[in-house]
Amino acid sequence: MQFKRILVKISGQILGGKDSLIDSVTLFQIAQQIAAVAAGGVQVAVVIGGGNLFRGRSLEEQGMSRLMSDQVGMISTNINALFLQEAIESSGQGCEVMSALPVGEIQDINIRNAKNLLSEDQVVIFAGGTGNPLVTTDTAASLRAVQIDADVMLKGTRVDGVYTADPEKDPSAKRFEQVSYSEVMSQSLGVMDLEAYRICKDFALPVYVFNILDVKSIHGILEGKNIGTLIKGD
Ligand code: UDP
Repeated sequence: MQFKRILVKISGQILGGKDSLIDSVTLFQIAQQIAAVAAGGVQVAVVIGGGNLFRGRSLEEQGMSRLMSDQVGMISTNINALFLQEAIESSGQGCEVMSALPVGEIQDINIRNAKNLLSEDQVVIFAGGTGNPLVTTDTAASLRAVQIDADVMLKGTRVDGVYTADPEKDPSAKRFEQVSYSEVMSQSLGVMDLEAYRICKDFALPVYVFNILDVKSIHGILEGKNIGTLIKGD
């Protein structure tokens, strides 16, 4: 696959450690992958989640109101964005954070500026989700990918693709090499929320699901290795 501009979705959950809110080993591992790919001439935008800190739904289960909890969830993505920015910059790669809920030195999302920065080989991290409650950062990732004209969304998880069933529960589950949007949506194969799929499908944006904990994963995908699942086609 030849990609000029990619959007990498990183789940916040993956950044969480066993005993800490943020696992610096994972953080720097992912940052180095992103910096290396950007240094190799591929334009990289990132959408970061917040699941290691707060998720609206989990807070709601504890009795908080959903709309307030989603605000807290979106603010969590700002925190992860700052950690990731610093880790990427420590590799010598320029990186800017923009947020739908800006705070401190984080700037507001401006797609025109983001595209200019990407063209200048800067990494752009989009935080704050969509800025609206009731959806997740997967929806934000598909939205931002369409807005910046990304060639593909690389969805980094801790599983190496989409399976016929949950591989952590069913040992006979098989990984799809490629699967259509409709199949993932109709068979409830999970991975992303439906609104995210709808945007990707409507705008023919391919999604590649892969295990970002594998240190050479992003490089491998760009080299055309079969290490995940490609979602495309009606
Ligand atoms: N969120 C939201 N609107 C958005 C994106 C995120 O309200 O557009 C909130 C929601 O509560 C979500 C939380 O932010 O649970 C953290 O994002 P997410 O769960 O997607 O993080 P991830 O699963 O990637 O760790």
